[in-house]
Amino acid sequence: MGKYVVLSDSIKKRSSEKLARSFGAHWARLGNQTVVWTAEWNVFNNKAREAGINLDQQEGAELEGQLYLVIQTGRSFLDTYPDVRIVIDKGRYLVVALPPEEVCRFSENKDNWWTMRPLPMDGVIMDIIKPMARAGVPSINANIEAVSQSTYSSYLMSLVNFLTRYSLSFQFISAMDWAEDELQSFGYQTELCPIDVGDGNSYNLVADRPGNGDGIRKLVLVTAHLDSINIRDGVNAPAPGADDNASGAAGVLEIARVLAEYSPKHDLRLILFGGEEEGLYGSRQYVSRLPKEERTRISAVINMDMVATLNTASPSVLLEGAPVSRSLIKELAEAAATYTSLTIQTSETPFNSDHVPFIDELIPAVLTIEGTDSSNTNIHTANDTLDHINYELALDILRMNLAVTLKLLEI
Ligand SMILES: [Zn+2]
Repeated sequence: MGKYVVLSDSIKKRSSEKLARSFGAHWARLGNQTVVWTAEWNVFNNKAREAGINLDQQEGAELEGQLYLVIQTGRSFLDTYPDVRIVIDKGRYLVVALPPEEVCRFSENKDNWWTMRPLPMDGVIMDIIKPMARAGVPSINANIEAVSQSTYSSYLMSLVNFLTRYSLSFQFISAMDWAEDELQSFGYQTELCPIDVGDGNSYNLVADRPGNGDGIRKLVLVTAHLDSINIRDGVNAPAPGADDNASGAAGVLEIARVLAEYSPKHDLRLILFGGEEEGLYGSRQYVSRLPKEERTRISAVINMDMVATLNTASPSVLLEGAPVSRSLIKELAEAAATYTSLTIQTSETPFNSDHVPFIDELIPAVLTIEGTDSSNTNIHTANDTLDHINYELALDILRMNLAVTLKLLEI
């Protein structure tokens, strides 16, 4: 038993985090909110008052049981459990309070769409940052501006026109074949790699462009899942998946088109995964089959999954990685500040996209995803269509990813 308080005021937040460290309380920050919790509420509250911090909720809220972090795709958790006590709601990330008798209700979660874990203590779960733009006139500016709405939107349209890209459908194979033809036409070496998706078979598409550097070259991966799904109406129903994830797959093709003009020092690999919606089958199998020689050469994996729906007043992107990808997140944030007008959120709690299997093997991977993706309620239904696509947002995310890819390839 204890109490908790949620603080939004930035001065109170920072000083409470400091106080918590000294007086046995714990804290976790999500964007502009910090939750502080302790079994010794009176001690903490008195110390706060002595330090001149007037907590908004002097009484604190009763905490029966424990605080948990939920990470959800869409509003999957909230839709299933509307009665759970929400402490902080940041869309993809929730802090919930569960009394002990409630915990078992969630212990056998077989749902891929959300995960629950004890709230990590004394750290930042999700941050909103203002990185510095790089100084001087960036030399790669011309290349960044080569991303084009007309080619990007034509790729997007082609993918959506397959009606579904359900991993076990013949349309998925047709979509893979089409993407392979495009990548070959840009000059990439391609390979369709079979994967298992449960009892069925599907594919990953891998496209390579070797670098021309001497000695051991690094390997840079740009990835997205090609498959789509309609969970609401079943696997035979239309699943246009315009945002999830034709937007990311078309992004891989657009970056491929722009990079085809250059001969990089390091090796570039583009991957379109299958079986993502069924539980990351394509990326898990890809990572498990990676030869050790290649695994150790991977300097970055930049994954795009849902990059084209504007859910926030101003365009924003979430960079989701782990401690292993901290420097890649920093590079991406700096590139965003230099070349785009994106607001940047960051997180080191990776969940449910193709960056996770890489991170599990300590390979630096980052998911780039539209900010507040959980507000996009059209995904996994027939309503995930082109008319919800925001090209400005998508192109800004592409510019950020292209800038970092160019830098890592030493073009
Ligand atoms: Zn997706």
